[in-house]
Amino acid sequence: MMRFPRFAGAAAMVALVAACGTTYSIPEAGAAHTEAAAMKFAQATAQGGRRQLNAKSAEQRFSRVAARVEPMGRKYCEALTADRADFNCAVQVEIDREMDVRNAYFTYEEGQPVIRLSMPLLQDTASDDEAAFVMSHEYGHLIGRHVEKQRQQAVAGAILVGVIAGAAAADADLFDANIINLGVGVGAAAGTFAYSQAYELESDTLGARIAHAAGYDPEAGAEFFARPEEARTGAGKLSFWGTHPPDKKRYATVLATVDQIEAQIGLQKVE
Ligand SMILES: [Zn+2]
Repeated sequence: MMRFPRFAGAAAMVALVAACGTTYSIPEAGAAHTEAAAMKFAQATAQGGRRQLNAKSAEQRFSRVAARVEPMGRKYCEALTADRADFNCAVQVEIDREMDVRNAYFTYEEGQPVIRLSMPLLQDTASDDEAAFVMSHEYGHLIGRHVEKQRQQAVAGAILVGVIAGAAAADADLFDANIINLGVGVGAAAGTFAYSQAYELESDTLGARIAHAAGYDPEAGAEFFARPEEARTGAGKLSFWGTHPPDKKRYATVLATVDQIEAQIGLQKVE
């Protein structure tokens, strides 16, 4: 049993609003970017299915790409989180050999940051640029602190529910703390939930910069998600296109970021 003072509701609201925003500003896609994105999707639709890499080539691609993206992702992370004491940028980048769908994710395991790409995803990549973009995008979720923010939002949401439930019960003592646990537990399993679109765009922006700095072409890399694919597999599991909705805005945003990189415009923080 827990007692919730009335001001907890207001405090939770403030936390909720503060936790929703992105840390870095997302470059605005212009008409040319949007048009190019629509064309890319149309081309991908016309092309149809892809040739799948064999397992050995997929592993070699992963090793090649991780060797370049991991140090660059870590460097970006350390530079951008220098003001946060003890922020852990030493990500373990691995292949998820259990996952049978094409997907990639960032998560914390026992407090350690981990990025994993599934074998089916690696086998579906058409170039090193694509594998590098996906990996760099996941670094964006770490640097954007999306897991942490999403958790804060869940807690704030649960507290709000608690305040409402407490008020309805007239006696706050009747409120069950389990409701908080429920709120925190939602979508906690790695690779099984979607971030907000703002977080996806922020990760694409950061990912495009990391991939470019690691020597890859972010525009070619973003072609991985610039094609129509099912959000769920036949078994109902979320795929990469389910957890990373492949709308044209994402691709257009990558193009806008590439323009910024070429014009030597640095990453901008949201004030
Ligand atoms: Zn993502």
